[in-house]
Amino acid sequence: MADDCLFCRIARQEIPVQLIHESDDCVAFRDIKPQAPVHVLVVPREHIASLNDARDPGLIGRLSLVAAEIAEREGIATTGYRTVMNTNADAGQTVFHVHLHLLGGRSMAWPPG
Ligand code: AMP
Ligand code: ZN
Repeated sequence: MADDCLFCRIARQEIPVQLIHESDDCVAFRDIKPQAPVHVLVVPREHIASLNDARDPGLIGRLSLVAAEIAEREGIATTGYRTVMNTNADAGQTVFHVHLHLLGGRSMAWPPG
C-alpha cells in the first residue's frame, strides 16, 4: 500500500471511481481515457510498481482471468479483445502500480504502435 499512489487510493475507494469488479486481491474499473469502446483496468490491491517487481504468479494470473470474465460480461469475449501490461518507459507506463488493460469492442492493429 502506498499513500500517494493513485491506484492504491482507487482500490481503497478513497477516490470515488465506480468499480466493475471487486475481489480479495484485485479491483477493476473503466479507464478515464478509453482507447477502445471497452477499456478496463484490472488492478491488484497490493502496491506493486510494475511487472518487474511482481513475485506472485497466482496474483498475476488472476488478473488475466478477471479480465476474461469482464470481457465475457461486456460481450467482447467472442469478437475478441486485447490484454496489455505496459512496463516502464518504452512501453509507455504512466501509472507505477501494476495493472492489466482490457481493450475491446473494435478491431485492433498488430503490431501495436
Ligand atoms: P499505463 O499508461 O499503462 O500506465 O496506464 C495507465 C492508465 O491509467 C491510462 O490508460 C490512463 O488513462 C488511466 N488512468 C489514469 N488515471 C485514471 C483514473 N483516475 N481513473 C481511471 N483510469 C485512469
Ligand atoms: Zn499503488
